[in-house]
Amino acid sequence: MTATIIDGRAQAAALRATVAGGVAAFVAARGRTPGLAVVLVGEDPASSVYVRSKGRATREAGMVGFEHRLAADTTETVLLALVAQLNADPAVDGILVQLPLPAHIDTARVIEAIDPDKDVDGFHPVNAGRLATGLPGFVPCTPLGCLMLLRGVHSHLAGLEAVVVGRSNIVGKPMAQLVLAESCTVTVVHSRTRDARAHVRRADIVVAAVGIAGFIGGDWIKPGATVIDVGINRTDEGLVGDVDFASAAAIAGAITPVPGGVGPMTIACLIRNTYVSACRREGVAVEKGL
Ligand code: NAD
Repeated sequence: MTATIIDGRAQAAALRATVAGGVAAFVAARGRTPGLAVVLVGEDPASSVYVRSKGRATREAGMVGFEHRLAADTTETVLLALVAQLNADPAVDGILVQLPLPAHIDTARVIEAIDPDKDVDGFHPVNAGRLATGLPGFVPCTPLGCLMLLRGVHSHLAGLEAVVVGRSNIVGKPMAQLVLAESCTVTVVHSRTRDARAHVRRADIVVAAVGIAGFIGGDWIKPGATVIDVGINRTDEGLVGDVDFASAAAIAGAITPVPGGVGPMTIACLIRNTYVSACRREGVAVEKGL
């Protein structure tokens, strides 16, 4: 059997087009344009690339991008003052502070300073709590994108065995909450799990967010399972995921490629969250399917 390849690029393009349509109607109805503020501290090259592509995607969706680039030696006090200013700015619907921050800044304190209702990255503890308790809030973009890809494969997720490999606050934990909310039976596998393979073997759905190239081999996969590979690992052979694609694709029912799977969905979900934030702040209904 050969798996269906889940086309993250196509699904991300469709999501971005839906958001762009919603934004155009929003602008016509409300007379203002949704805005996303992105804050970058320092010159980390990877972060710089991410910030640029987030700005581009924001503009392509018809929204305004406010970019704040601060020097690497910016103090925490100055950064917190900027966050407070963005919280108070009515033109800003979403605030994103690009991570990682320089070591002299307390990342948790900065995230906690963001207004949870503008926290389009979904990293604020209030939004983590809302997700855990089933309240509306903002869900981190990468796991939200994974859930959308899963929904594209399965019309019903209830009752399926989902195994999430990784327990980071950004991917693994919110992913586990999302599939739990869909009534999957959820197992979280992490670095201290005794027999990771045994857990993954029984999964109908596998989400891999480990950060180790090819960590999950095809012999870990239950025939017909859906495999979502979040991993982005740079190797001599180029970018690869946490799943050994060739062997897993021979046994899975559906699988995301790396690149071209989860990655494009992450930015599309950031655009989606920003638009949803603008709608909530204006009391506008959000399109079905968003
Ligand atoms: P992280 O390093 O914070 O977390 C990795 C997790 O893997 C940890 O919770 C750890 O318990 C688990 N782990 C480590 N070794 C393990 C082992 N031997 N067995 C089982 N579990 C083990 O990483 P993260 O931020 O969650 O990111 C994970 C991967 O996803 C990375 O490759 C990252 O680059 C990628 N990522 C991709 C996107 C995207 O948009 N596609 C977004 C975020 C992260």
